[in-house]
Amino acid sequence: QTGTTKNGSSVADLLKIERSDNAAVEDKIDSLLSVMTLEEKIGQMTQINNSLIVTKANWGAGSDLSIETKVDTAKLGKMLRQYHIGSFLNGVAVSPEIWYQFYKDLQEYNLKTTRLKIPIIYGIDHMHGVNYVEGGTIFPHAINTAATYNNEFPEAMGNITAIESADLGHQWLFAPVLDLSRTPLWGRYYETLGESPYVAATMGTIFVKAVQENKEIAPYKIAATAKHFFAYSDPKYGWDRGPVDISEQALQEFHLPSFKAAINAGIKTVMINSGELNGIPVHSSYWVLTEVLRDQLKFKGVAVTDWEDIIRLHRNHHVAIDEKDATLKAIQAGVDMAMTPYTTDFCEHLKALVNEGKISMERIDLSVSRILRLKLEVGLFENPLPRNDRFNRVGAPEHRAKALEAARESIVLMKNENVLPLNPETTKNIVLTGPVADLKRPLAGGWTLRWMASEESIYPKDMLTVNTALQKEFPGKVSFAATSAELKAKASRADAIVVAVGEMPYAEGFGSILDISLPEDQVDLVKAAQATGKPVILLMISGRPRVITKIYPGCKAVIFAGLPGFEGAQAIAEIISGKVNPSAKMSFNYPIAVNRLVPHNHKVSEVILAHEIDNPIALVPFGTGLSYTTFEYSNLTLSDSVVSADGTINATVTVKNTGAREGKEAVLWFIHDEVASISRPIRDLKFYSKELIKPGESKTFTYTINVNDLAFPDKNGNAILEDGYFTLMTGNLKTRFKLQRTESK
Ligand code: BGC
Repeated sequence: QTGTTKNGSSVADLLKIERSDNAAVEDKIDSLLSVMTLEEKIGQMTQINNSLIVTKANWGAGSDLSIETKVDTAKLGKMLRQYHIGSFLNGVAVSPEIWYQFYKDLQEYNLKTTRLKIPIIYGIDHMHGVNYVEGGTIFPHAINTAATYNNEFPEAMGNITAIESADLGHQWLFAPVLDLSRTPLWGRYYETLGESPYVAATMGTIFVKAVQENKEIAPYKIAATAKHFFAYSDPKYGWDRGPVDISEQALQEFHLPSFKAAINAGIKTVMINSGELNGIPVHSSYWVLTEVLRDQLKFKGVAVTDWEDIIRLHRNHHVAIDEKDATLKAIQAGVDMAMTPYTTDFCEHLKALVNEGKISMERIDLSVSRILRLKLEVGLFENPLPRNDRFNRVGAPEHRAKALEAARESIVLMKNENVLPLNPETTKNIVLTGPVADLKRPLAGGWTLRWMASEESIYPKDMLTVNTALQKEFPGKVSFAATSAELKAKASRADAIVVAVGEMPYAEGFGSILDISLPEDQVDLVKAAQATGKPVILLMISGRPRVITKIYPGCKAVIFAGLPGFEGAQAIAEIISGKVNPSAKMSFNYPIAVNRLVPHNHKVSEVILAHEIDNPIALVPFGTGLSYTTFEYSNLTLSDSVVSADGTINATVTVKNTGAREGKEAVLWFIHDEVASISRPIRDLKFYSKELIKPGESKTFTYTINVNDLAFPDKNGNAILEDGYFTLMTGNLKTRFKLQRTESK
């Protein structure tokens, strides 16, 4: 270590930071930039898959880090000496001890052998709990979290994920997904917080804060990632990473708010949408990456590419003549860090581009300063090494208890014709059948233990399947029918037949499908169950809705369990037995037909036309779900019927539990702007809260309507506020109020 920096300190001094205020961080960044070579800077902008630095890459498991693999210092040494790589990513579930050792070896070697000793930051896809640590707590996927309408759960998931990740060196989580669920053809539907921009913004932000502001993980801090920026989730033909065509108006209205909220909450990184948006691949879109992200949303953090996406500008999108041209276009558009360029050619190309004067040093410094700031802000310079004394927090019983609570509140009872719950005392026999009824992996879906979650044998021994959970809940009363012949034979003794249908796990493009109908063999199984004449309970374990309209009328009850995670089977069994009273509500409009994919916040004209041809919008609407008790809404009142420019008014509603058992009710508030210069959604969710209500008890729910809730964006993102009438809806009630910003004469 030689040389002095531009503010006179020695390079050795740079290794210490005595103060951690913002000015100290900025000083440190300036000092580092002043001594870094171009190669060192470019290395900071590069993130490499761990398969390139381990002793044995385990491609078979669709992953790289496995029990047999360790850091290969020869490979790592080359990466650090030749390319000065500043970030690595990826993994599969290995034990906390292996993770600890892996990360410690990686970081120690980096600190020992590199000139400037800039700590490495490691990124990992912990998106529904610590899905890449053995024994870690696995929450339901986001599509379920949304259905809880209970902010306690994104918060708990953020906290627990942070706690179980931090001590292992995972200081950068590639979560949350802030894309909206739109087409169920798309294989990443379950990773989203449903179709409501408000839910995605609210729960996404709560998760981000729980991760990034977590005090329990001191001295560590973790950065979250808003992904995939933006409008990734609605590929025109449903194929993952396929082109998206969405009007600028709809982008601002629907697809941007969740990202905007996360940025306002201080999210430190965003990951870029791999697809193209309105004709321009997002990785080369100056409009998205600079004008929207930086100028409009004022994002200050790091924009990382998605997997190999710079090269794909050339290979897939054909907007760049070669990989070097792709690099130029991506950097010009606003990329800060390249995730997994196939090889480290990115480093060579970028160096050449700077030397040729096509990319300025200022542009490089801008990205490098953002990356160094991220590393400084998460405290990596002070605490680059993990500690090994807190592994007992991984999968702690109280963490798993929270995941179970989340699962219980995330399972939607869609239909119930007096069949559920099945009383464990009086029920004599339940016949259970279906392709997902006795497997673990369909419950937690993709991104669990392995990317594609394909190996049943590696799931925890104590994890229940629907079969084992029902056996536990109804001892000696459950017969499992593996085939429809067995089903027929066993049905005569059954009080009810539970048919567990759904999907095997998948991830990303592998989950894109051609038809969202429930597969035919599963439909046939349901029909076979119906043909027995016994009450059929249809249980769907699936990361997306599959169209079931034809078999729906013949089912006495239908449960949409989504992907409820490792504790999910127990939650399902408890709902079937009635130990748990379901309280989830749909986080999307459940489609009634394969070609009728309409979200709850569609335009008014949609329904006018639909009614003309007597075609309902959804099989089960967004925001609805049944309970084992009944709730009556009354007394919807407003503190004032007029909202003024800077004012707020309170809306209250009384909800009475009119049934015989206690239950939680999520109260959802929708607004419709009656007349506006840009056509408004028929209803748009603006607020929700959830409370436990005892039988006979009434509770008052309040929503404070803020003038901002009445604004909408134009296509450039400017907020428009127009005086006039608004309809407020909750439960089966509605009322009107007026926005009037000036005194009327
Ligand atoms: C996915 C991202 C993920 C990344 C790293 C990509 O293929 O689109 O969501 O974070 O891989 O694993």
